[in-house]
Amino acid sequence: MREQKKIDIAIIGAGPSGSLAGRQASVNNSDLSIAIFEEHKQVGSPTHCSGLIALEGLLNLGVNRNIIQKKIMVNEIKRARFVAPNGNSFQIDRKNDSLVVLNRKSLDQYLAMSSERAGASIYTNHHVKEINFDRNKWKLLIRQGKNTKKIFCDILISAEGSKARLAHSVGLYRPNQNWLFPAIQYEMKGLVDFEPDCSELFFGNNVAPGFFGWFIPLNEESARIGIAVSPVHSGKTRLYLEKFLHKHSVIKMRTKKAKPVNSYGGFVPASGPVKKTFLEQFMLVGDAAGQSKATTGGGVNIGGYCGRLAGKYASKIISKDFTPLQGCREYQKQWKSCFEPELSIMKYLRRAISYLPDNVWNDLIRIAKTTQIDNSMKSTDIDLHGSGLLRYALQPKVITKGLKLTPQVCLSFFRGFLI
Ligand SMILES: Cc1cc2nc3c(=O)[nH]c(=O)nc-3n(C[C@H](O)[C@H](O)[C@H](O)COP(=O)(O)OP(=O)(O)OC[C@H]3O[C@@H](n4cnc5c(N)ncnc54)[C@H](O)[C@@H]3O)c2cc1C
Repeated sequence: MREQKKIDIAIIGAGPSGSLAGRQASVNNSDLSIAIFEEHKQVGSPTHCSGLIALEGLLNLGVNRNIIQKKIMVNEIKRARFVAPNGNSFQIDRKNDSLVVLNRKSLDQYLAMSSERAGASIYTNHHVKEINFDRNKWKLLIRQGKNTKKIFCDILISAEGSKARLAHSVGLYRPNQNWLFPAIQYEMKGLVDFEPDCSELFFGNNVAPGFFGWFIPLNEESARIGIAVSPVHSGKTRLYLEKFLHKHSVIKMRTKKAKPVNSYGGFVPASGPVKKTFLEQFMLVGDAAGQSKATTGGGVNIGGYCGRLAGKYASKIISKDFTPLQGCREYQKQWKSCFEPELSIMKYLRRAISYLPDNVWNDLIRIAKTTQIDNSMKSTDIDLHGSGLLRYALQPKVITKGLKLTPQVCLSFFRGFLI
């Protein structure tokens, strides 16, 4: 570890939220000493992501369009198709280049590099074991290989991901762990008979109970194919994926001669926003703060944006524009006013749909198709689609064709809201 006399801001985790927090704080004040600690040997590896991202949101993080297109993007998606358990489907067409598939490792490495260029230091292979608040400083106990060392800092930002173990250890609630969906994804080569610019989501309790399966094309012959399931099925995640690949009526035709070239695992974050995301001289960002879309599990853009906010307020605290508590409180106020209403709607939608039986999924997809959901959703912000979906569902034409609230439907809603 490079000698660091004094750390103004320490950041746990070099995912998108941590790197963007570091970059923003350094850009605001290049005299600050900022250290980002990442437990893995390499930023962005192992990867836990499908890399399907709204381009607009990514540009809002300050990533240059040219860099995205030349170094990070692997495909452009022009439509999304939603497939019911009985095979019926509807699709939503998207404006050109609004939805892109990224190489997630390249994105994380690019963001980490740009925060280093701005002045932050990144320490890989540094696992933060413990944190404590002591005499107006945060103390971090860090393991690097066989060595353990103590670091002190004025402001601590935790961007440690959805398990949020360290934030929890100092008394904050963490994202509801019952709504982190175990996921496995293969990157496959040699696929046939699919549209390379159409991403697809597959619903149904035989495919992916609690969540959905996905097919995200990378080019004419490769795609990321994965599933996430509710945590009660966590022991069978791989089995469900194998079944999806080789028995699903649509997917099995595509995978006949295909081979997996990579396999990833992880937990899709669908818990919804965490209530309190700050303490004295401490801010929680990204998946650790529940800043992801519970409907789809996407969290790069919103978490990244909130990371930038945390970096901004951390630098303002050090420059004495705010007292530490005021600055951290202001961070929470800002991110919640930007995102909490949408994230909460998505959380309740996730709870409402996760335990629906297949016949209800079939009805939902049929209703969505006949009431032209595509017209209502086509221009909705991909990252902030909660209120758009709700507005669509509350239209008279949808309500009149809507779901019958049978005891079976009520029971599945109930189950979702009780967990
Ligand atoms: C299968 C899957 C598919 C997904 N697909 C998409 C998608 O298509 N689009 C999308 O937008 N989102 C997607 N997501 C979600 C997305 O990956 C997360 O929302 C995003 O990574 C959150 O960024 P973050 O920086 O908050 O956390 P992370 O990216 O999880 O980064 C946290 C970092 O902290 C490090 N860390 C943790 N604890 C410590 C410690 N104690 N000491 C040091 N370092 C530590 C970790 O190693 C990690 O690098 C997907 C998730 C999964 C699991």
